[in-house]
Amino acid sequence: MTPAFTLLIVDDEKQNRTLLTELLKDDHHLILAKNGEQALQRARSHLPDLILLDVLMPDMDGYAVIRALKNDDLTRDIPVIFVTALDSAGDEEQGLELGAVDYISKPFHPSIVRARIRNHLQSVQQRRLLEQLAMLDSLTGIPNRRRFAQVFDQEWRRCQRDIAPLSLIVVDVDHFKDFNDTHGHAAGDQVLRQVAATLRATLRRPADFVARYGGEEFVILLPGIDRQGARALAEHARREIEALSISHAVTNAMSRVTVSMGGATRIPPEGPPDTELFCLADTYLYEAKRDGRNQVAWAPDHVGCAGKETIPPITAES
Ligand code: GH3
Ligand code: MG
Ligand code: MG
Repeated sequence: MTPAFTLLIVDDEKQNRTLLTELLKDDHHLILAKNGEQALQRARSHLPDLILLDVLMPDMDGYAVIRALKNDDLTRDIPVIFVTALDSAGDEEQGLELGAVDYISKPFHPSIVRARIRNHLQSVQQRRLLEQLAMLDSLTGIPNRRRFAQVFDQEWRRCQRDIAPLSLIVVDVDHFKDFNDTHGHAAGDQVLRQVAATLRATLRRPADFVARYGGEEFVILLPGIDRQGARALAEHARREIEALSISHAVTNAMSRVTVSMGGATRIPPEGPPDTELFCLADTYLYEAKRDGRNQVAWAPDHVGCAGKETIPPITAES
C-alpha cells in the first residue's frame, strides 16, 4: 500500500469532484478546487503530490492552469494528470506537451484511474528517494554541497526576513595531504567520516546545518545566533576534533588530526543571496591556516570581502 499522498482534484462540476472523491478518498488525502484560480492557490499552499486537472472549465481552463503551475518554482514539479471529456488525439497531445504526465478521458473506468494514479505516485516516491540520495555525500553520509546550496539559499532568505544573523563556517582538515601520503587514502577517508560525524554531533539546534563541501572541506551554517555564539560553537567543534586524537605521524611536530576554521556572521542585506559570507569565511580560513592551523579565525563586523572569491558552480560529485 502506498503511503498517504495528497491529491488535488480540480473540476468545475460538482458531480465529477464527487465521483473522483468517492473513488480515491480511502487511499489518499484529497483537496478539491472548483476553478483554475482556486487550483493554483491550493497547489501552492498544500503542495500536493499529484494534481488531477479538468481541461474544460470557465475563465481559466486546464491548459492555462498547467502553464501557471509550470511557471512557478514551487509547483513546477508536481505531476499533473488531465482528466477530461476532450478525447481527440490533438487534445491529448497538447496536454502532454504542456507537461502533463498522463491524460485520462471521461467517462473513465474507476479501476484504471486508480491504477494509473498509483503508478504515478510510485514514480513520485522513487524520484524523492533519488533526490534525497543525490543530496547526501556518499563517503560521510552528511549533506553534500548541492544540498548546502539549497539550505544556504533558504536560511539566507529567512534570516534576511527576520533581520537575524547568519553565520557560515568553512572547515578544512590540516595537512591532510600529508596524512594521506603517510597513512593511505583509506585511512584518510575514515578521518573524513569521523570529522563529519563530530561536526554533526556538535550542532544542537534544528536549523544548524553541516555539509561536506568537497574534498577535506566542510561548511557549517548557523542561523539566528550572534557572532559570539557561533564562534563558541566553532571553537567547541575544533576542540572535539582535536580530542578525537587521531594520530598524524609526520615529522614536523604534528601529532594529531586537527582542523582550521574560518567564520563570518552577517545579517543578510537586501537583495538576492550572494557569496559575500562564503568569501569572508574562506578568507578567514586562510588566516587561520597562516597563523598556524588548528584554530578558528572570524571575520570582524563591517569588513567586506576584498577578494573575488565566489562559490564555484556545482559539478558532479567527485
Ligand atoms: P592545509 O593544512 O593547508 O589545508 O593542507 P592540506 O594538505 O590539507 O591541503 P591540500 O588542499 O593541499 O590537500 C588536501 C588533500 O585532501 C589532498 C587530497 O588528497 C585530500 N583529499 C581530498 N578529498 C579526499 C577524500 O575524499 N579522501 C581522502 N582520503 N583524501 C582526500
Ligand atoms: Mg582544502
Ligand atoms: Mg586541508
